[in-house]
Amino acid sequence: MLSKEIQLEVNKGAMLPLMEEFYTIQGEGSHTGTAAYFIRIGGCDVGCHWCDVKESWNAELHPPTEFQVHRVMRFAHSHAALEAELE
Ligand code: SF4
Repeated sequence: MLSKEIQLEVNKGAMLPLMEEFYTIQGEGSHTGTAAYFIRIGGCDVGCHWCDVKESWNAELHPPTEFQVHRVMRFAHSHAALEAELE
């Protein structure tokens, strides 16, 4: 259970149940082969049977983390790939 203060930060988007973030080359879709910054957030409730990151489904496994846009902006020339959806 999150504290009220942290839940407010999550609701504002200042903190996210961040699973992982990394800079790489996109391997699928229309941006295949281009640089991409991946941000994986816990709490996806879509439930695709082909999902290869089912560990992302439970947001409680990924404690809220302060999201720092400046880390992503260093790669502003890249395609940003946001995966998973918040509940
Ligand atoms: S993380 Fe992506 S692939 Fe997995 S269930 Fe959610 S939308 Fe589907």
